[in-house]
Amino acid sequence: MSAFEVPVNDLTRRPGQMKELELDIELADPMGQGAATVPAGEIIELNLRLESVHDGILATGEVDSTAMADCSRCLEHLKLAVEVDFQELFAYSLEQEDDFLVQDEKIDLEQAITDAVVLSLPFKPVCSEDCLGLCSECGVKMAEDPEHVHQAQNDSRWSELESFRKE
Ligand SMILES: [Zn+2]
Ligand SMILES: [Zn+2]
Repeated sequence: MSAFEVPVNDLTRRPGQMKELELDIELADPMGQGAATVPAGEIIELNLRLESVHDGILATGEVDSTAMADCSRCLEHLKLAVEVDFQELFAYSLEQEDDFLVQDEKIDLEQAITDAVVLSLPFKPVCSEDCLGLCSECGVKMAEDPEHVHQAQNDSRWSELESFRKE
């Protein structure tokens, strides 16, 4: 049984019944493939409410976890708090192709949680909104040395002139 599967045998076909669960799910595989990911081994904290409704089980969840990323400007390593909500109906019978289903008196929350988490991850994570990034000349982090300037280009032109003169 996957860590994301939750038994609902006490709720099925009993509209009006409800239960609340708190689950800590350890990720076997990372979530997200972009600039920010929730790595394998990280814990997904899930506050889950399950309601039995006419045509299935309505799952409402709050997810808390931590994503790892590199700042897209200065490349500093970041930890990002992940806080997302989701709500999905797990139906007894398939009406549309992408419906979630109650199967064997269980629901599998992996896809619903993955979708919510991945959507919440930033495409271009930044360590702070006013991150100055890296110097395009030397790659130094601008926040650490904001005043520095480069003479290198001019210097090399001069030295080329110098070498012409010597010849
Ligand atoms: Zn940064
Ligand atoms: Zn520089």
